[in-house]
Amino acid sequence: MARTTTRAFFVLQSPTMSTGFVELHCHSTASDGTLTPTQVVELAKRSNLTALALTDHDTVAGVGEAASAAMSLGINFIPGIEISAEYPSPGTMHILGYGVDPENPKLKRLTEELIAGRDNRNPRIVAKLNEMGVAVTMKEWEDEAKGSVLGRPHLAAILYRKGYVSSIKQAFDKYIGQGAPAYFDKERLTPRQAIERIRESGGVPVLAHPFQLRTTNDGELQRVVKDLLDLGLVGLEVIHSDHDATLVEKYTQLAKRLGLITTGGSDFHGSNKPNIELGVARGRRVPREFYDRLVEKHQALQGRSSKMQPTP
Ligand code: AMP
Ligand code: ZN
Ligand code: FE
Ligand code: FE
Repeated sequence: MARTTTRAFFVLQSPTMSTGFVELHCHSTASDGTLTPTQVVELAKRSNLTALALTDHDTVAGVGEAASAAMSLGINFIPGIEISAEYPSPGTMHILGYGVDPENPKLKRLTEELIAGRDNRNPRIVAKLNEMGVAVTMKEWEDEAKGSVLGRPHLAAILYRKGYVSSIKQAFDKYIGQGAPAYFDKERLTPRQAIERIRESGGVPVLAHPFQLRTTNDGELQRVVKDLLDLGLVGLEVIHSDHDATLVEKYTQLAKRLGLITTGGSDFHGSNKPNIELGVARGRRVPREFYDRLVEKHQALQGRSSKMQPTP
């Protein structure tokens, strides 16, 4: 993957040029997406997006390459990461970190810790699958991931290719999804740790897809989000492929009530999630304004960052 200096991470345009639509939640081959960081940026350009954040699970390995591509194609870019925090089943809590500094030693320590959590989990999944008569090895999983963070979608792709299942979805339902026999949880950070680590790595913490918390009523949702706010949460992802119009409205109101900024993205994974198009979440696009507010917030938290530079 192309290396670039941190200086290239932000390509800011003057706010008056801020128009159109953006994508603030997507995955590349650095985690479990199927397009390389460069290909994601190229697709963003073809889709007429004016800014992009790359938010791979547990890693910033793709952001250098994406930043370079964004720079040469003339679209704005902010690095990101997505972290899974401890949360009671059947819900899941994912925290996005925007504007993290890839060269921050604390971020490096954080990503190493997150990968170690996977390294502990993954062989247990494979052992269980073997026990169930499914012939798959860690080596095959590693080969499938091609040096990226090993995710269950890679494993699902192997099971599909080998004919154990007829779809990726079936691989999760039958074997490796939550509640299935070969599901094992990875060690996670607490929400407090996730938020603190993102903040100390120079990032803006945002609660991803609140729908996936699976809260059962508005009071519970508000309590969970308010607790996160007290821990240093800054934003709420209101637009997402899991959110219909009613939810977008509900989360927007909640963000407004609590003084959180709003973000949005499709959660694009390439052909690992074939129904999701980059920049489009249930037919809805993400306004440019979300990116501008996010960058503003990042600057405010950093003080005047030396990493900001105008578009050449
Ligand atoms: P991991 O980070 O290795 O635990 O894998 C998480 C990834 O698996 C995320 O991209 C999820 O969207 C995907 N995933 C989890 N459950 C399912 C499911 N039931 N069907 C399809 N993808 C899933
Ligand atoms: Zn993913
Ligand atoms: Fe997520
Ligand atoms: Fe995601």
